[in-house]
Amino acid sequence: MATGTLHIDLDALVANWRALDALSGPGVETGAVVKADGYGLGAGKVARALQRAGAKRFFVAVAEEGAALRQEIGTEPAIHVFSGHMPGDADILHDLSLIPMLNSIEQMTRHFESLPGHAFGVQLDTGMNRLGLEPTEWGAARAIVMAQKPRLVMSHLACADDPEDRMNAEQLSVFHDMTDDLGVPRSLSATGGILLGPDYHFDVTRPGVGLYGGAPFGEAEPVVRLSLPVIQTRDVAAGETVGYGASWTAEEHTVIATLAAGYADGLIRALGNVAVVFSEDTPCPLAGRVSMDLLTVDITHLTRVPDHLDILCPLQTIDDLADAAGTIGYEILTSLGARYHRRYAGGA
Ligand SMILES: *Cc1c(COP(=O)(O)O)cnc(C)c1O
Repeated sequence: MATGTLHIDLDALVANWRALDALSGPGVETGAVVKADGYGLGAGKVARALQRAGAKRFFVAVAEEGAALRQEIGTEPAIHVFSGHMPGDADILHDLSLIPMLNSIEQMTRHFESLPGHAFGVQLDTGMNRLGLEPTEWGAARAIVMAQKPRLVMSHLACADDPEDRMNAEQLSVFHDMTDDLGVPRSLSATGGILLGPDYHFDVTRPGVGLYGGAPFGEAEPVVRLSLPVIQTRDVAAGETVGYGASWTAEEHTVIATLAAGYADGLIRALGNVAVVFSEDTPCPLAGRVSMDLLTVDITHLTRVPDHLDILCPLQTIDDLADAAGTIGYEILTSLGARYHRRYAGGA
């Protein structure tokens, strides 16, 4: 088989959810963000494992994701849609019982006209300038909106991955001003906000990346291991080059292994010539550029040719790999390609 195997440890995922739930403290409900197909790991499998662990509320980016998720987790859990109620969403929101997090006056008008009485939430903008009603808009709309009894009022922090950033306290203060007297459940924090402490937790938290083993949740258990089969090896003489653009030159006799994954599988080109892969505990550097379907790796120092090498493993987390490529763990995760064989363990 010439595709990589993405091992997904659902027990580690559940342990991360439980740890974030414990940090969220008593009286706070811990939801789970499973947008982008569960950050690339399979929203259905992820959500069902978390549902068995006690999660009752899930968040997705768009209504279509919510519809697919509903088929996987049954009618009971709440599914919130961050993008709110877009044109054409009414049927899917209604039929699959999804809760749009309304972002604008326009969305509110659309929702109350097309689906009167249907559950909704409200998204407020406390400074990120991305989604939600700004304080002046909210001031004008809130009496009408509150009369319709939103299920959840939320906002999102721009800098929660950095506890020192003063924007956290500023957004917290704006959120208090906008919501303190509403008397409905509130939510402000994703993974980073949970780590900022109880002031940021309100009634419902919305962890995403921490569930999947990523920063800023430093104590997270790694959830993924990505093993790539060796298709071929070859001896390269000193002075010969490897790969596109001949960007890597052998300084001495070198053994190169060619692995079955490339940038089409989410191993972005920025990894070329800088990242390493692991044979058990031994790092092996990439030699040359990342191709669409292939990587070339220097394995000269190994005592035998392995049948696979790991690019994600406990020795190299999603954040380590992201650092090598100049990106973030979120992007590494959500780029993990469709060609990998996804093998799940645990989660029962
Ligand atoms: C993606 C997202 C989350 C989850 O964020 P993490 O940093 O992955 O925990 C929570 N809330 C909103 C609005 C989001 O877009």
